[in-house]
Amino acid sequence: MKRIPLFKPFIPPKKIIYKHFDNVLNSNKISYGDYVYKFENLFSKFINNKYCLSYNSGSSALFAALKVLDIGYGDEVITCPLTAEPTSLSISMSGAKIVWADIMKDNVLVDPYSIMRKITKKTKAVIVVHYSGLVANMKLIRKICNENKIHLIEDCAHSLGSKYDKNFLGNSNNLSIFSFQAIKHLTTLDGGMICCHNKKLYERLMNFRWFGLSRFKSRKKNNIKENGFKFELNNYNSALGYIQMQYAKKIVNEYANNGKYFLNNIKDRENFKLCRPLKNTTPTFWMMSAFTKNRSKLIRKLKNAGIESGDVHKRNDSHEIFKESKVKLPNLDQYYESLIHFPSGWWLRKKDKILITEIINSF
Ligand SMILES: *Cc1c(COP(=O)(O)O)cnc(C)c1O
Repeated sequence: MKRIPLFKPFIPPKKIIYKHFDNVLNSNKISYGDYVYKFENLFSKFINNKYCLSYNSGSSALFAALKVLDIGYGDEVITCPLTAEPTSLSISMSGAKIVWADIMKDNVLVDPYSIMRKITKKTKAVIVVHYSGLVANMKLIRKICNENKIHLIEDCAHSLGSKYDKNFLGNSNNLSIFSFQAIKHLTTLDGGMICCHNKKLYERLMNFRWFGLSRFKSRKKNNIKENGFKFELNNYNSALGYIQMQYAKKIVNEYANNGKYFLNNIKDRENFKLCRPLKNTTPTFWMMSAFTKNRSKLIRKLKNAGIESGDVHKRNDSHEIFKESKVKLPNLDQYYESLIHFPSGWWLRKKDKILITEIINSF
């Protein structure tokens, strides 16, 4: 492993983890139990939205979002290829057709005007990815979705704790999902969360994660009306989530502050441009994203200093499964080969930040 990896899970003190895992083992409820609610409650408080439901992954939460919005065959969903595969696969799994929107010129975020141009009569939803912890232009995207009466889903897997205006992501008038997979801001080993804004959707999402059954009625009083899956987060993962939430503010702030350090100290120039936050956004910088034509040189220089960097994701429209949706995307086509990410997480020390800054400012 590199001395300074691009991703590193934050693991709370083992003594605390073992204590809570022991509680689960002794509770007679090893798969589903109180920690599920305890974790959800703390998460709800953290982002200030009472309608939060844990899922066993961000992927299952994304799939659920599309399903409870009744999206499927014959529908179109717009998203950007610069993302992790689960975003795009949730769309193909739902049966809908994926339609690609472009990135902005100087940023890893989706271009709202590109979304606008891709809307047809069949468009049912847009999935916006707040890539690398940066926050997309929600004002314009919301306006476009409202005017065209299409649903908006926010993929916040990279952006726990980020804000648009004064609001945490996940606390908005549409569906949002988070991921607690191993390399995200906070991990429950694997896990996810879906956040909505009304009781009806909340209840549907609650049944959807457990075979379409309600946990609040006896098995025999239940009557499945709508398909559901086995998407619950178990009591162990939830216990870890519960513990993680005690550290969430501190950890997320460390990402955010490291990001701010780089924004203030790295100089943009002809051949190096950091992706900077849009107006009215407060990002938590899951990683730093930038564009440079000398990507391999910079990766090598950082590597020689023990710092991991790279391109992280393959553009999703180059997977064969999406070949029918492939189109020209002028910005992504032009800048994809220049994209580089470097670490900004809680594990960076002051001298690491200075070193990274020096290398980038002088390579
Ligand atoms: C990690 C991730 C997800 C969800 O992934 P899971 O591993 O299923 O939790 C979704 N979207 C993006 C952009 C991601 O990076």
